[in-house]
Amino acid sequence: MKKYNLIEACKKIYTLGLNKGSSGNISQRIDDDKFLITSSGCSFESLEEKDIVTMAINGKIMNGETPSSEWKIHCDLYKKRADIQSIVHTHSKYACVLACLHKELPAFHYMVAVAGGENVRCCPYALFGTQELSNNVVKAMENRSACLMANHGLVVGSSKLAHSIYIAEEIESLCEQYVNALAIGEVMLLTKEQMQDVLEKFKNYGTLRKEGNG
Ligand SMILES: [Zn+2]
Repeated sequence: MKKYNLIEACKKIYTLGLNKGSSGNISQRIDDDKFLITSSGCSFESLEEKDIVTMAINGKIMNGETPSSEWKIHCDLYKKRADIQSIVHTHSKYACVLACLHKELPAFHYMVAVAGGENVRCCPYALFGTQELSNNVVKAMENRSACLMANHGLVVGSSKLAHSIYIAEEIESLCEQYVNALAIGEVMLLTKEQMQDVLEKFKNYGTLRKEGNG
């Protein structure tokens, strides 16, 4: 899989249509207690070196300008989750549609397991940039690599930046499918056992660590 730096990753996310304007932010851990994060209000389309901020996980700015307003989420996830090395936050269209309904992404399709469990939870609403929102996200991401944020968007955290982008793209696509299915009728869900089988199979394929299967 391609190894992305932050600038390439922002351009990829922009090209995929996952973030527009100056919405969303991403980060990459560079040490146990340090990470790089996109700056406040930067454009994903034309990110430059000057738009990257180095932060300590205690919240101290080590280099660069003002970090994204959601830096607390990044600090807290890196503090609490040793397995997370990169974080992608988007306001992608269908993830937002579902998040505005305060609905989780349930086991309506086997690929929901790409986030590490039988569902992708939706955390309660809190004002952007607050400790309350960060706490809500950390809780909703327990045993998962992603969660929806009510009336806001999507957060993904995984071992590699390319994998976090892959999960964000996959979840956006699943949200689109689920929203469309909901509009037509009753969506048939997979059982806990069926999703457990998928999660086991994904472990063998390495889908939860690398890029997806067919
Ligand atoms: Zn946001």
